[in-house]
Amino acid sequence: MVQGLAFDEITVDDISFLYPSVKVSVLRLDKISPVVSGNKWFKLRFYLDEAIKLKKKGIVTFGGPWSNHIVATAAICNMLGLKSFGIIRGEEPRILSLTLQQAKQDKMQLHFISRTDYRSQKIPEAISIDDYLPVPEGGYGPPGVAGASTILDYCATDFTHCICAVGTGTMLAGIIDRISPMQTAIGVCVLKNSGELAEKVKSLSGDNKNNWQIIDDFAFGGYAKHNEVLLRFMNKFYRDTNIPSDFVYTGKLFYAISELIKQNYFPSGSKLLVIHSGGLQGNRSLEAGTLIF
Ligand SMILES: *Cc1c(COP(=O)(O)O)cnc(C)c1O
Repeated sequence: MVQGLAFDEITVDDISFLYPSVKVSVLRLDKISPVVSGNKWFKLRFYLDEAIKLKKKGIVTFGGPWSNHIVATAAICNMLGLKSFGIIRGEEPRILSLTLQQAKQDKMQLHFISRTDYRSQKIPEAISIDDYLPVPEGGYGPPGVAGASTILDYCATDFTHCICAVGTGTMLAGIIDRISPMQTAIGVCVLKNSGELAEKVKSLSGDNKNNWQIIDDFAFGGYAKHNEVLLRFMNKFYRDTNIPSDFVYTGKLFYAISELIKQNYFPSGSKLLVIHSGGLQGNRSLEAGTLIF
């Protein structure tokens, strides 16, 4: 295991007292580390093994200015003595976001590219892929999926439904790979366009599976979009459960679960496992005082 990450802090919190008809457990991956939070180490772990095996100097990867993936990659590479290169979407700002400041502190070299160039995920010529192993945005790809499927090593697996937030779909594909045909995986999409996402998850997890679903009614208008309803819910959820969430992923996830339970989406007696995938550092982009945690 990696020094600096607290896998023994991971708990499974029972929050069934909020919901009369179903059992709800939360796998607290947010407790691993405030920086390498939640699912990011899991999605990176086999890429890291590969970089070390191939004797690369480090990793090159992609993300936006508030990316959980960027800040996690920087921190974990630093812990392992690897270098890291972050290709960041958009113009270099006068003042770096707190996320990028943190990545820089963890010795990540930042390289800003235009949104158009970013879309093609091309690695600038200045960065030699002989030296750096390229990792797609969010750890997307088979090694990311294989790593994400090991998330379920950290809890009991006698659930009927496993539910997680979906960005690139890598984590969801890992969960789908790992569960039995009697169990259902549900992804709560946090992006506006969930159409191509289902195709991506299908290609990552195999065409032959149909015990999963992506729910796209709870994106709150798109990636990182939020409103008063969501923020108020997150504060109330924290007051009720002592579980902090982030407004990009897990806030929408817990909101969706509360609504779905209200709508009797899950048969009574269902046992839900919710993956708290971390991401709390992203809340620093909100105005101070917005959240009570
Ligand atoms: C990155 C991230 C996700 C999305 O994971 P994907 O594998 O890209 O779908 C979910 N939750 C949090 C907190 C994240 O940081």
